[in-house]
Amino acid sequence: MRDFSQDTSALALNTATLGHNLEGHGAGWSPERLIDACTERGFGGIVFWRREIGTRAAQIGERVRAAGMAVAGLCRTPYLTGRDAGSDDEMRGSIDMAAALGAPVLTIVTGGTEPGTTGLGESRKRLADRLARHVEHARAAGVRLALEPLNPMFGGNRTCLFTVRDALDLCDTVGDPQIGLAVDVYHVWWDRTLGESLARAGGRIFGYHLCDWLEDTRHMLLDRGMMGDGVADLGAIRAAVEAAGYAGHCEVEVFSAADWWQRPPEVVLDTVVERFRTVC
Ligand code: ZN
Repeated sequence: MRDFSQDTSALALNTATLGHNLEGHGAGWSPERLIDACTERGFGGIVFWRREIGTRAAQIGERVRAAGMAVAGLCRTPYLTGRDAGSDDEMRGSIDMAAALGAPVLTIVTGGTEPGTTGLGESRKRLADRLARHVEHARAAGVRLALEPLNPMFGGNRTCLFTVRDALDLCDTVGDPQIGLAVDVYHVWWDRTLGESLARAGGRIFGYHLCDWLEDTRHMLLDRGMMGDGVADLGAIRAAVEAAGYAGHCEVEVFSAADWWQRPPEVVLDTVVERFRTVC
């Protein structure tokens, strides 16, 4: 397992940690200011959300690389299934944005259960069909697609993949190396079969997302914990992810409307670095 105590080059900031991706949240820093603050603190990468990028993808990507960091990824595609599914054009647009930014990975939150259906079977079938339609475009753009399974409480309107096993099964159905998964502590920490599921991932882990699960979670979307403040076994999860061959960025993604988003961004970033070195 990698030793992060003296080396933060694998540390990436997901800008959600500063509340940047939601209207009315966060300190309103520009991407440029954020890039400078991350560089100063030794971050190795940044993951942006589409709404921050607008039409400036190439410019922002260049700025990140000029600062000596990488754009580690882009969040995220429109939903592919469910009531709020986006169009094929929107999906292609998100792939193109990732490519222009120089982001090697585009995260997918699948969307929920398809209208007019119940359960998950039909939704997963349609998800596989829709994904397959975009694989060639993604390959040509040099962007890998990472399915992120979400905690089952997000079933219904946000996801039809609940576990690493679900995501790998979907990868198997599509059967293309352009498609893999992202493992997020918040969504997988409870899964006792995580180790055995990850053992069959074999090179298909495209992202690892860090946060913590608070003992008393007050809001299921916006009350994530900072690493070390909760009950997730961060060491064991990273050990399993790395045993499965993952050696990429560890992306800190702390949605925290009532706590971390209320603090000065400098304090949040300093805390992220300190926790990364000591508890992740
Ligand atoms: Zn995530």
